Amino acid sequence: MIWPSSRILAIANESGANGALLYLNSLVDRWLAASPAVGRAIKAQAEDLARLVLRDWSPTGWDEPQRAKQSVVGRMCETLLRLREPALVELMAGRLAAAATHPAADNAAIVDAIDLLADDVAASWLAKIAAAHGSHALGASAGLLRLAVQGRFAKNSRLLLPAAEALVATLPGDPDKLPKDRWGQPRQVALDAEGVVALVPVIDHVDADVARRAAAHMLAWLQHFGIDAAVIPALKKLVETGHRTGRAFEALHGAAVDHLGKRIAEPLEPPTDWRRPGEIRCDCAHCKQLSRFLLDPNEPVWTLHAAQQIRTHVEDSIRRASADVDCQTVRRGSPHSLVCTKNQAGHRRHVARRKRDLADLAILQGAAT
Ligand SMILES: [Zn+2]
Repeated sequence: MIWPSSRILAIANESGANGALLYLNSLVDRWLAASPAVGRAIKAQAEDLARLVLRDWSPTGWDEPQRAKQSVVGRMCETLLRLREPALVELMAGRLAAAATHPAADNAAIVDAIDLLADDVAASWLAKIAAAHGSHALGASAGLLRLAVQGRFAKNSRLLLPAAEALVATLPGDPDKLPKDRWGQPRQVALDAEGVVALVPVIDHVDADVARRAAAHMLAWLQHFGIDAAVIPALKKLVETGHRTGRAFEALHGAAVDHLGKRIAEPLEPPTDWRRPGEIRCDCAHCKQLSRFLLDPNEPVWTLHAAQQIRTHVEDSIRRASADVDCQTVRRGSPHSLVCTKNQAGHRRHVARRKRDLADLAILQGAAT
């Protein structure tokens, strides 16, 4: 049975992108199962519906993308791949390039759909998407190019030079020049470890000069790329997966080894007296007493007899300063008391970090041999 087309398609489209996609997929199923004579008409309907959906989709109306979840864009790309119509894939790529972001979970479907296009056309859409999405979805955009570099562009990665350059141009730098959100506030576009793991192989494969420039930029603006939070975990992952050369890798690797070496060279001794660091911001009488206690080299314990409100406030000040002090409420006498006992938590944290630093350094130095 063939449905009367235009009205049905309009209704399917009005049911929203998800409903339209369901109906579109059922049309594709029927096309693939039908005889060639019947199939042609069903395929034409499917193409009409896809065109309608893509025409009406507004990028700003798309779901707020979550990294872990494939969005309606990814599902549309999968459907277009089944339809095998390059013109529709280009329409989709145009809608994507008009949006500001996509979730990393859509990357595989986008790359697969774009595979239906000629090399230079595919590369040019990837550049437009990277330029448009880099500021808001830097990690996802790097992941998209990484799949392309690993896939059809493995042998001619040079074609991805405009895409790599577009992406590198969106790397966050000077805070005054960060893109602003709709309230005029700068958008913090940090790159996490996963993003660095995606970015480094792309720039290292595509062009040595872009790789060198990008790494220098990242090292100049480490506040956006967290050497401990992102760069070191990313380098470990890259070493593990066999990416151990390239201008970007080598520059970041050198900086990471240097950073770890400097921290490992710092003294690591337990405190020799009862003085404990901790900046107490409040200057009420109780917090002043707390400050004096922290600075006192001879006093391991301080007992504060005070009403609950004050005890809670002082405990709060200790927590906010991350001071090495354990608190215990003793419900005897009136008022009750807060017993503050200095501990060695800070030293234990340093010891644990030293252990991690040594292990990380061994992994990174192993890569250099
Ligand atoms: Zn206070």
